[in-house]
Amino acid sequence: MSKVKEVDVLIVGAGFAGLYMLHLLRDKQKLNAVVLEHAGGVGGTWYWNRYPGARCDIASHEYSFSFSDELQQEWSWSEKYAGQAEILRYLEHVAERFNLKPDIEFNTKVQSAVFDEGLKRWSIKTEAGEVYSAQYFIPAVGTLSSANIPFIQGQNDFKGDEYVTSRWPTNGVDFRGKKVGIIGTGATAIQAIPVIAEECEQLFVFQRTANYTSPLCNGPMTEKNEREIKANYQQLRDDEQESFGGMPYKQQRPSALADSPDEREAHYQKRWEAGGFNVWLGSYEDILFNEEANKTVADFLRSKIRERVNDPKLAELLCPEEEQLFGIKRQPCETNYYEAFNRDNVTLVDIKSAPIKEITAEGLNTAEGSYEFDILIYATGFDAFTGSLFKMGITGRNGRTLQEYWADGPRTYLGLSVHGFPNMFTITGPQSPSVLFNMPLAIEMHCDWIADCIKHMNAQNLLEAEVDLPHEDGWIDHTREVADMTLFPKAKSWYMGANIPGKPRVFMVYVAGGPAYKKVITDIADNGYEGFKFTQ
Ligand code: FAD
Ligand code: NAP
Repeated sequence: MSKVKEVDVLIVGAGFAGLYMLHLLRDKQKLNAVVLEHAGGVGGTWYWNRYPGARCDIASHEYSFSFSDELQQEWSWSEKYAGQAEILRYLEHVAERFNLKPDIEFNTKVQSAVFDEGLKRWSIKTEAGEVYSAQYFIPAVGTLSSANIPFIQGQNDFKGDEYVTSRWPTNGVDFRGKKVGIIGTGATAIQAIPVIAEECEQLFVFQRTANYTSPLCNGPMTEKNEREIKANYQQLRDDEQESFGGMPYKQQRPSALADSPDEREAHYQKRWEAGGFNVWLGSYEDILFNEEANKTVADFLRSKIRERVNDPKLAELLCPEEEQLFGIKRQPCETNYYEAFNRDNVTLVDIKSAPIKEITAEGLNTAEGSYEFDILIYATGFDAFTGSLFKMGITGRNGRTLQEYWADGPRTYLGLSVHGFPNMFTITGPQSPSVLFNMPLAIEMHCDWIADCIKHMNAQNLLEAEVDLPHEDGWIDHTREVADMTLFPKAKSWYMGANIPGKPRVFMVYVAGGPAYKKVITDIADNGYEGFKFTQ
């Protein structure tokens, strides 16, 4: 049995969140902090999701750290929306630049984290049997880091090669001359399909639910653009902080219903041509609140699919159904997605009307036909928000596990803290703006708040912080009330846990927007961390 390693802070995960948290606590507060990371390198999402076509869909100069002006001035992005390899290089650069790697243990999976009430410390065990004792436990394990691989009859019988998009091999996959099947048509598959289609012999796309998408409109970062961004970076970052989703869209109008049909069409067209989330978060404010307004944008996006797909029957299959609202599932962005279905080597298989029956040695059978392929890809998403936390065996006071406490859905205060789990802080946890905010900025907001709270405790020799139950209950009610003002809870989405059989159906994001949330958490800190009980 190895010796217990004593640290002030134990952080799990070396994505955006773990890297910045380590920098803040180790370098600014001189705490003894360590990061444990399952992967062989830094990057988190960008380490694991190496599937063809993977890239961000918030512009890279915005989807990046803002905490160091030197960092943002010295780094150059080659494209507006960088690909996975470039984002990974950026995070490698961050780790080198701030000398973070010496305090990260790679290839180290945390198996359990148990709060010891006597010691008032967390005891954290790794898969290899190492034990750490820490005053503060910070699972920075990501909201989209636990793959969802659905159970399908006969799954083990397949004789070809199988891949999961979020566990893609580091040396890539050679699709040349291969027949490929891909299950899923979410944001991941929508990026991967056009790229794989260009390389493989034949691609079968198994679609259960068609998605609304809009074009990414990627392109090279020109020298002129870069100069302008860098000259005005602080203003841009301020604008991001003041916008609902952490991306300033200055053309957004209040109501789709207030404009005439012609004005509306012209406005949607302009937002569509601007790319990224311009249609979703930058066209009209009421499309996420009012079904009639939502229908106008849904109709616009369906008309775009019909324009781009040559075969009308195929176009209808790719169109989300009338009753499907737009944007209350995370909106994917696409590059040549619909054009891929005009290719001779791409076949769309509708598994809604004829579901998959079983996977076979050679491929799969649906209720209507058999498909043979050499490679099977699961682009089936994530057990979002709670998946990686639950897999870590987190146990708080009185031996109660996080799974038990969250059996009916996540319970947090501000998405940062959980009653019964003292000195544990989550980053972009459920019931915070999280995945509905530009995530590096959401992460910075949380890490800054956590670091300030720890500083406050250390300055006053406080050993333990725990949120009280009434404040946690109050926050849960508030997040629900805010969500119920929007259309979001109407979707069968991973925001709602609806993609995982048996998972409670609750909306897991605080959807009042980043600025409102920042005011709440700042006020709470300014009021002496209202809702927290501190003990010495
Ligand atoms: P992650 O990057 O997920 O890192 C968590 C780390 O924790 C992982 O490295 C994992 O290995 C580690 N870990 C988990 N459990 C354990 C354990 N038990 N032991 C040890 N280590 C563990 N967001 C945006 O805002 N804009 C985008 O354009 C965008 N694009 C995305 C594209 C893809 C393909 C995906 C999947 C997500 C995207 N996201 C995007 C969301 C993205 O997850 C976040 O932006 C961000 O990268 C999350 O960083 P993180 O550090 O919180 O978590
Ligand atoms: P996802 O949106 O959850 O999509 C999963 C897909 O798999 C859906 O089409 C789903 O169909 C299908 N599926 C799941 N289980 C299935 C089953 N048993 N049988 C048949 N089909 C099944 O997952 P994702 O595409 O990985 O995206 C998740 C999130 O990651 C995104 O929403 C986004 O936040 C992030 N992401 C971002 C980018 C980016 O552009 N920056 C790229 C990739 C991912 P149903 O819809 O019918 O359930």
